[in-house]
Amino acid sequence: MCPAAALYIVPTPIGNLGDISQRALDTLQQVDVIACEDTRHTAKLLSHYQITTSTWALHDHNEQYKAEQLVTRLLSGQSVALVSDAGTPLISDPGYHLVNQCREAGIQVIPLPGPCAAITALSAAGLATDRFAFEGFLPAKEKARVDKITHLMEEPRTLVFYESPRRLLDSVAALVRVLGEARQLVIARELTKTFETIHSLPAGDMLTWLKEDSNRCRGEIVLMVAGYKPDSEVVLCAEIVRTLTLLRSELPLKKAAALTAEIHGAKKNELYKYGLENGL
Ligand code: SAM
Repeated sequence: MCPAAALYIVPTPIGNLGDISQRALDTLQQVDVIACEDTRHTAKLLSHYQITTSTWALHDHNEQYKAEQLVTRLLSGQSVALVSDAGTPLISDPGYHLVNQCREAGIQVIPLPGPCAAITALSAAGLATDRFAFEGFLPAKEKARVDKITHLMEEPRTLVFYESPRRLLDSVAALVRVLGEARQLVIARELTKTFETIHSLPAGDMLTWLKEDSNRCRGEIVLMVAGYKPDSEVVLCAEIVRTLTLLRSELPLKKAAALTAEIHGAKKNELYKYGLENGL
């Protein structure tokens, strides 16, 4: 049974309803009230599991005010579960003000582990996961987006973004422009759902691949970017290697590397080093 006067942070499925834990279901069944982002959305999940607990709307636009009311209920001895539409509450979702106010009021906050698109995507991406930086959504406006990527250009940790299908192409194009064609990207789409795909390519090739078929931009998306690596660890995309090899057949390596860098927006010294290491 749930102890009284606690706020439970309850993750819910990001697609596959089977991903909810038994503990999450028990908690949703036993608390006095469920605070949720969209009561109609959560109603579908609750009805699927025949849970009849009453719900209470807590979303971005009313959170500060509604959080105060929930804190009052918690202080009077009630227990509350917080859910969002999908995944882990507070991860690019509402809940920060409520948790913050609860902790300030000395109310126990109990987190349950469960689905989160960023962690699910990372676990299968094949990128380094010993350290990573979750960056939420990239800005919608082009200049702000490019500024943000520029700021992260030499970040050595794997970068994880949430992305909207409408903006995916623009974001990948901006990544190519700022980070170069060679930086490895992974796109995880529709995780846990019927059309789940996880695709890994250097940025330049990824942009081409996305443009080939608009279906590749559809659905819910996690976009991951390999962290910045010192020169010798860079893996160049096939297109860049082709250009470099072709130019090298006519020119000294230094000149071929400089021209290839100019054509593809890559780094001259990385290409030169690649040429030396690969006997071009
Ligand atoms: N709190 C959620 C979590 O723990 O993952 C994230 C909420 S955020 C508002 C929604 C974004 O998460 C989507 O736009 C998408 O970028 C990502 N996302 C959610 N479900 C996903 C899925 N099944 N596959 C890929 N990305 C997903």
